[in-house]
Amino acid sequence: MLVTGSTSGIGKATTISFLKEGAKVIINGRSDSTVDATVKELSYFGTVYGIRADVSKKDESDELISRVNELGDLDVLVNNTGVFTVKPFEEVTDEEWLEYYQINVMSAVRLSRAFLGKMMDRNAGRIITIASEAGIKPYPELIPYGVSKTALITLSRGLAEVAKGTNVTVNSVLPGPTWTEGFGTFITDLANENGQDLDIFITEYFKNDQPTSLLQRYATVEEVADTIVFLASEKASAINGAAQRVEGGIIQSIL
Ligand code: NAD
Repeated sequence: MLVTGSTSGIGKATTISFLKEGAKVIINGRSDSTVDATVKELSYFGTVYGIRADVSKKDESDELISRVNELGDLDVLVNNTGVFTVKPFEEVTDEEWLEYYQINVMSAVRLSRAFLGKMMDRNAGRIITIASEAGIKPYPELIPYGVSKTALITLSRGLAEVAKGTNVTVNSVLPGPTWTEGFGTFITDLANENGQDLDIFITEYFKNDQPTSLLQRYATVEEVADTIVFLASEKASAINGAAQRVEGGIIQSIL
């Protein structure tokens, strides 16, 4: 299996969960040193391969695809790479919009295009794309991010239609606020800037900014990773074309 953007955060936790299940995993990141260090760290859990590639770039994605093919048939593709920036809508330039599209959307488009057909030929496989609750709950300061995630949800459902009648499933996963190293630093800095204790800052954030969250806390990366690993399993064969929420109930909807 291949997990893109897996040298930290949800991607890294997903890799660990897969390795604990006995899977062989290819990890990916943008720098050789980070990829090598992550391979070394995660080898403790099982067989890990590392391939450096910036998946926002077509040539580097193509190189990644050929190196994955050299390793054998890919059974599970997790399109995890995604970035966000908090910025007022009026200040986001055309270049930034297109950059979002390349990193968050085209990365998943190119890899899915390369592997879906092969999976359908083998009548087996899983494509799981990490979207976000922001894809169906727009945040005014994260509009390009939200738009890119809405696109990924549509992409996933569309690809599930393409694979209709086969044993290949294609789903998106919608995490909500999830405590990663990077996000943790961002929130801790914000709490410090506001002169607030971190725990109180988080409690207030959920109370005031995410009142519909049933969890009223950040999800852990392991909680999101375990959902991804379940969707990749045989047990999840009938979950297809779904947008699986792991957002602690922020989206106040029965479906
Ligand atoms: P993260 O920043 O902790 O990790 C992202 C990883 O992607 C890093 O390893 C980084 O090196 C890699 N990466 C970034 N750009 C890349 C590129 N162009 N090519 C290759 N690798 C690249 O992120 P995270 O919070 O774990 O997010 C993972 C996914 O989950 C993203 O798609 C994100 O949008 C989504 N998500 C996260 C949250 C959250 O609260 N953390 C919530 C909803 C959705």
